[in-house]
Amino acid sequence: MGPTNVALVKLYRADQTLREAQERLDSATKSLRIQERRTNDLAEKLKLAQAHAKELQVKSANLDLDLKTRDAHIEKLREQQTVAKNNKEYQAFLLEISSGKADRAAVEESALALMSEVEAAQKEATELAATLETERAKLADMKGKASATVAKLTAEIDALRAPREAAAAALLPKAREVFNRLAEHHEGEALSAIMKPDRRKEEYVCSACMIDLVVDIYNKLHTRDEMVFCPSCRRILYIPDDLPPELAVHKKKSAPAIAADGTERPKESPRARGRIGDLLAAAQGESVKNAMDAGQNPQEYQVSVDGKIVGIYKGKTAENLERVILFRMEEAGEKHEVHLIPVHHTEDANADEKASAPSA
Ligand SMILES: [Zn+2]
Repeated sequence: MGPTNVALVKLYRADQTLREAQERLDSATKSLRIQERRTNDLAEKLKLAQAHAKELQVKSANLDLDLKTRDAHIEKLREQQTVAKNNKEYQAFLLEISSGKADRAAVEESALALMSEVEAAQKEATELAATLETERAKLADMKGKASATVAKLTAEIDALRAPREAAAAALLPKAREVFNRLAEHHEGEALSAIMKPDRRKEEYVCSACMIDLVVDIYNKLHTRDEMVFCPSCRRILYIPDDLPPELAVHKKKSAPAIAADGTERPKESPRARGRIGDLLAAAQGESVKNAMDAGQNPQEYQVSVDGKIVGIYKGKTAENLERVILFRMEEAGEKHEVHLIPVHHTEDANADEKASAPSA
């Protein structure tokens, strides 16, 4: 590859390493952040509970005062009653006292009800305070235990920034800008290695999205110094270390075979279109990557969605591909029945190609 692509791969790797370290720090501090949020929520709840209890207490105190005023008033009426001038006046005081007593009884009832409300509110606040104390102690303990790990990971991240910056500085501004934009869009996956699914065939796919690439992609990347983008996912393509020219390019031997293949082979395996098509293509990409990561050759499966055959897709295993498809569908809010049948290949490369019309 030319210097631009070599520098891009370098930046890509440095960037990946930095991102991985950041992810490790993120997951190491995740439980800490959750605990922090829990104590903050509790503290907020406690504040509200305490304010509520206080408010009820004030109300209760006001009612007590009201009762005392009423008592004093009734007492005063009694005194006046004893010195009544005649029976009529006496009866009038009697009536006023009894209505005053009835009002007082109603207020007393509210005061009692309010008092039990105050008690309940105070109990709640006390319990919350105790829980908060426990959770705060837990947080302090977690922080103590995590501090060494956090310090180590933070130092690691700091150390990884310089190589990443150096790798970025080695690029021309335009390439750097393209890289940064793609990295942001694809969560760091700005580049995609070209992949040769079958060593015997001169065919390449984008390892990120599994789209078929033009046959001369290898030579283009190998001999020229320019950015080449995947026509489907737009990532910058590169030649991985495990695909040196002697493995990638079959010189004389395979050239006619490909030509013969090309005429016999159906132009493209039929594939689903639209939203489901995108989902399946993405799922295929992930499952094939799983296979490659595990050092296995991806297998082909005939995929049916809701009983309808939608095409042949590659994956690590039927289980893996199905799981990835279902996961992506669920993520996209799609609910479908998915069925996979392995496409069996014979050892012969030509028969291999015909299997896109599966026998099962
Ligand atoms: Zn792609």
